[in-house]
Amino acid sequence: MSTEQSPLSYVRDNILRLEPYSTARDEFKGGNISVWIDANENPFNNGVNRYPDPHHRLLKQHISRLKHVAANQLFIGGAGSDEAIDLTYRIFCEPRLDNAIAITPSYGVYAVSAAVNDVELREVQLNDDFSLPVDRLLAAADSRSKLMWICSPNNPTANAFPTRDLLRLCREFDGMVVVDEAYIDFSSVPSMLSEIKNHANLIVLQTFSKAWGMAGLRIGMAISDPRIAELYERVKYPYNINGPTQKEIIDRTSATDLHAMVQTIVAERELLATELSKLPCVVRVFPSDANFLLVRMTDANSIYDYLIEHGVIVRNRSKLPGCQSTLRITVGTPDENRRTLDILKSYKS
Ligand SMILES: *Cc1c(COP(=O)(O)O)cnc(C)c1O
Repeated sequence: MSTEQSPLSYVRDNILRLEPYSTARDEFKGGNISVWIDANENPFNNGVNRYPDPHHRLLKQHISRLKHVAANQLFIGGAGSDEAIDLTYRIFCEPRLDNAIAITPSYGVYAVSAAVNDVELREVQLNDDFSLPVDRLLAAADSRSKLMWICSPNNPTANAFPTRDLLRLCREFDGMVVVDEAYIDFSSVPSMLSEIKNHANLIVLQTFSKAWGMAGLRIGMAISDPRIAELYERVKYPYNINGPTQKEIIDRTSATDLHAMVQTIVAERELLATELSKLPCVVRVFPSDANFLLVRMTDANSIYDYLIEHGVIVRNRSKLPGCQSTLRITVGTPDENRRTLDILKSYKS
C-alpha cells in the first residue's frame, strides 16, 4: 500500500456506514449515580449481576502499557485471536466478491473463517524450505484481494519469517497484511508492532493463549492503525469479554514473569530438539521460533499411534502440504519431554 493511502479504502461500505449498538452503559455519560436501574439487571449483588464494561477500559489501559501500544490501537477479543480473525473478514471482505490470500501450510482458522464468511481464500504454498514465497503471494492478488494472512512464527512449520519479507508485503500488497504473532514471544525475530506506525495496512494479532499461559481465558488481540481498531470496536459483540476475565487478565499478567517462563520453555525446546534428532525414528527436526517442534519421522502415522498407546498425544501434520510424515510436538514440562523421549526411544519400526 502506498504511504499516502488510507487503510479505510479497503473497508466494506456497510461497515463504514455502521451505526454501532449503544448499550445502557454507553448512553450514561457520568454523574453521581447510586441507583442503577437502567439495564434490566438483577439488583442483588452476587459479584456478576452487573453487565461488564463493554469497552473494557481498564483492561485496555493495562494491555496498552504491557505492549507499548496506544489504547486506541487495540481490539481485544473474548474468544481469543479467533474472534479477531472472523471480524477481520467481516470488516474487509464482501462475501462472494472479495478474496483473501494465505500461506499454506498454516493455521487452519483462516480457511474455516473464510468459508463461514463466504470469502474465497487463495492459498499459496510455502517454498520447499518453508521460506516465504513473497513473489508468488503478490502474484496471487487481484483488485479484489483485501487481506493477506501471514502467521509468523508459522504454525505448524515453526519458523519465523524475516522482517524484510513482511515489510515488502506491506509495501507492495494493495490490501491489509495481517501478521499473526501468536508465538512471537518465543522468537528471535522481533515483533512487527513497531511497524504499524509506518504501515497503516498492517494488523498484528497476538494472544494470551501461548507464552502467557492463559489459553483458558480466551483473550486475543488485534493491534492496528487507530482508524482500523475503531472498526473492530464497532463490529464486535457489545459485551464480548466477561467481567471476571477482564479482571483475571489484569491480575495474572501483573503476577506473571513472562521472560522467565519463555526462557524455560525455549531452553526445553532446544534440549528436546537435540535429543529428538539423535533418535533413529527421527529424520529431521525443523528449526523452531515457537513453543513447538515440527519433526519429520520415519513413519509419522505409526509413531503417532505408538505415542497414543503410551498415553502421549501429539499432532499429526502429515497431510498438510510440504509436511509429509511429520508430527508437531508442543514443548511440555521437563518431565513430560523426558517421558516422551523415552517412549520414542523404545519405538521399533
Ligand atoms: C494458538 C494460535 C492462536 C491463538 O488462538 P487463540 O484463539 O487466541 O487462543 C492464533 N494463531 C495461531 C497461529 C495459533 O497457533
